[in-house]
Amino acid sequence: MENKAVELVMAPREPHYVGDGFRVHNFIPSGFRLDMVRMNPFIMMDYNSKFHFPPSDQPKGVGVHPHRGFETVTIAYQGRVAHHDSAGGGGIIGQGDVQWMTAASGVLHKEYHEAEFSKQGGLFQMVQLWVNLPASVKMSPPKYQAITNESMPKVQLAENQGFVEVIAGEYLGEKGPATTFTPVHMLNAKLNAGGEATFVFPAHFATCCLVIEGDITVNGKEHAPLDHFVLFEKAGESFSIKANEESIVLVLSGEPIEEPIAAYGPFVMNTREEIMQAFTDFNQGKFGHLED
Ligand code: MN
Repeated sequence: MENKAVELVMAPREPHYVGDGFRVHNFIPSGFRLDMVRMNPFIMMDYNSKFHFPPSDQPKGVGVHPHRGFETVTIAYQGRVAHHDSAGGGGIIGQGDVQWMTAASGVLHKEYHEAEFSKQGGLFQMVQLWVNLPASVKMSPPKYQAITNESMPKVQLAENQGFVEVIAGEYLGEKGPATTFTPVHMLNAKLNAGGEATFVFPAHFATCCLVIEGDITVNGKEHAPLDHFVLFEKAGESFSIKANEESIVLVLSGEPIEEPIAAYGPFVMNTREEIMQAFTDFNQGKFGHLED
């Protein structure tokens, strides 16, 4: 099996606020190497690196807004977030949990710090990903998956090196609880100091990782510190991650959806006409209703 080489190690960009509750570094789409075509099916990645929010009586977050044509996936590492959508989906996720919302034909949703977390304040760390949908399901009904940490298999590595948690796809034959429309692997490698894990994905998949905690060495040579993003070449199948200290690494690999992309704001479709239709439908109230 051929080694999958690192193409790029990227430091986090200057953060910006999404609403008033998410202080994020954008990694996808942020330039030619990490654009929607290169990273497809991962068409957006915002990373709220560890940040202390002070106590607030008014929960911070993002108010009601629409999405169509893809899925939004929020992975909570620190803090708690509440979500509600116009299709009736919603819930609260905390440390280690994931919410997986399939916007598909369209939803309105809002995302806020959970009320009690807001009152107390505290460390907040999350990743939000947008996962593209193939044309055949872009207009299918919305769906919501609440994925608790305990529902995720934890694949133990030999000799106390740590474990790999499976959100979606699989690791060493253990399958994650999230259902996906195209092949997507979403894993958290939780490694002890000195621990090492090997990953194998098809060569042509878009593959990357993000250092959530700690500090790692990839393939025995590339150094990726905390909060750095690692992009792999679309060649070779196998790579390794070694933890230089106790580390958590989000590992993503997905089959590219070989279809045109037309994206504007919260809509990601295949053609410009479909984007214009999304605005028309949104303005006519066809995304349902949700109280602010
Ligand atoms: Mn959203």
